[in-house]
Amino acid sequence: MTAQCPSPRLWSCSVNGCSAASAIDVGACECCCSHYCWQHVDSPDHTCEKEPLDEDAWYGARAAELHAVYERMQDTALLEIAQGLRPNVPCEMAPKDTTSSAMLGGMHMHMEVCFADGISWLARIPRMNFQSFPSDITNALLLSECGTLRWLEGANIPAPRLHAYGLQGDAANKVGIPYMLIDKLPGRPFLGLDASPAQKERVYTALARILATLKQHPLDKIGCFTLSPDEQVQLGPVLGDRAGTHYHDGPFDDAKTYYASWCEHHLALIADRQLYAQYAVDAYVMFAFLKEQALAGAWNCVAPEHDSGPFYLKHLDDKGDHIFVDEDFNITGIIDWSFARVVPLYEAFGPSLLTADLNGLFGGVPGDRVEDELLATKLDGIVPSLGAVARSADIVRRLTFGPGLGMGFTKDEAVASFKAMLATLGLETSNFDWESWRMEYLRSHQHDIRLQLLEDRESG
Ligand SMILES: [Zn+2]
Ligand SMILES: [Zn+2]
Ligand SMILES: [Zn+2]
Repeated sequence: MTAQCPSPRLWSCSVNGCSAASAIDVGACECCCSHYCWQHVDSPDHTCEKEPLDEDAWYGARAAELHAVYERMQDTALLEIAQGLRPNVPCEMAPKDTTSSAMLGGMHMHMEVCFADGISWLARIPRMNFQSFPSDITNALLLSECGTLRWLEGANIPAPRLHAYGLQGDAANKVGIPYMLIDKLPGRPFLGLDASPAQKERVYTALARILATLKQHPLDKIGCFTLSPDEQVQLGPVLGDRAGTHYHDGPFDDAKTYYASWCEHHLALIADRQLYAQYAVDAYVMFAFLKEQALAGAWNCVAPEHDSGPFYLKHLDDKGDHIFVDEDFNITGIIDWSFARVVPLYEAFGPSLLTADLNGLFGGVPGDRVEDELLATKLDGIVPSLGAVARSADIVRRLTFGPGLGMGFTKDEAVASFKAMLATLGLETSNFDWESWRMEYLRSHQHDIRLQLLEDRESG
C-alpha cells in the first residue's frame, strides 16, 4: 500500500506572518519574483499589477538571469574539462549573449562549446530564478538525467551523449554552477516544422523503431534512473513532476502502487492547499476517486499482468520538440530527457503527447485518435503488440495531462476534465452531475480526516 507521504513544501507564502504554503498552480508572481499562498496572491498584501509581464520587463528579467549565470560560471574550468576529453582538438566557448532565446528552455539554459573540427557540445544548466528548486532537488534531477543519458547510450538510442557533469554546492565542481556537458545534436525540433504527410510518415516510422528498441530493454522496477558517485547507472525513486509539483517516491515493483502514490502526492498537496486551493474539496474528491481506481487496476487498459512488469523507459515531455530531425526528416536524436521515467508498458508505449489531439486532451472531451493511429500503424509493422498498445484507451495520457497538470484550471475546467476521465475509464457519464456525484462521494467517505478538515475550512 502507499505510505501517507508528507507533501514537501518548496516555498512558503512571502507575506509577513503568513505560514501557509505557496500555491504551486496560482501563487508565483513573475513581476515581484515571489511566491504567495492562494489567498494572498490576489490580496492587498500583494501590490503588483497582476498582469503578465510586458515585453520589456520579460526580456529584462531574462537578461538578468543569464547574466547572473555568466558571472558565476568558470568558463576556463569547463573548457579544461572539454579539452581533457578531446585533447587533440582545440575548443572555445561560443559567444554569450543575453538576448537570444534559442538556448533558453523552460528549466534549462544552454551554452555551446565549439571544437575546431566542427563538433559542438552543450553545457546544459538548470535555470536559476525564483522558481528554481532547492539544491538537493536540483542535484537529484540532474543526476537522474545523467543516469538516463548513460542508460540510453548503452541501449543504443539516438540521444545526446553525456561527457561530464557537476553538481550544485559541490566543492569538487570547478565550473561553479551545476551542469551537464552533452552532445549538441544536429538538426531542428520536429514540432512546429510544416511536415508533409510523407515527411511525417518518415519521422513516425523512425520513432516506431526507437520505441521498438526501448521495448528490447525491459526493467524490473518503476522509477527514475540516477548515477551513483562512481558513475554506475541505477534505478532510483520516481522524481516528480514536470508540472511543477515535486515529490520522490519508490522505486515501485507494481503499477497499482505507483499510480496510487501519484494520486496520494496530489492529495497531500491539495490538503496542504498547494494545488487547487480555490476548490480544494472538489479536487480532493477527484484525486481520491482516481486513487481508488488506481488501486483497483483501472488505469491499466491492456492485460492485468503488465502491472507487475517488465517496465520501460518513457520520455515524459514527448510533445514533438524533443525529436530532432535533419533536412530530410531523418531523426538525428531525442533530446530533453529530464523527468524520464521507467513506467508500465501501457504508459511507455500507449497514447503519447506527440500524437494527442490537444484540443480534446485539454478541453476535457474525448479527442480524435488520428495521429495515435498513424504511429500505431508504424509500430504494427515492427512490433505488432506495440501497435495494439499505442491504439489502446487514452487513460494514462488523459490523467497526466488533464487533472494531473494542475496548472490554473478553473473549477469548471477541472470538472469537465474529470468527466472526460470517467468516460475514458469506461464509466457512465450521460447523466453526470458533479454536485450530486460529489455529495454522494462525501457521504460515503466520512472516515477521511484530511477531507473532513478541508470541508470544515471551506464551510467555516
Ligand atoms: Zn508580484
Ligand atoms: Zn499567505
Ligand atoms: Zn513520497
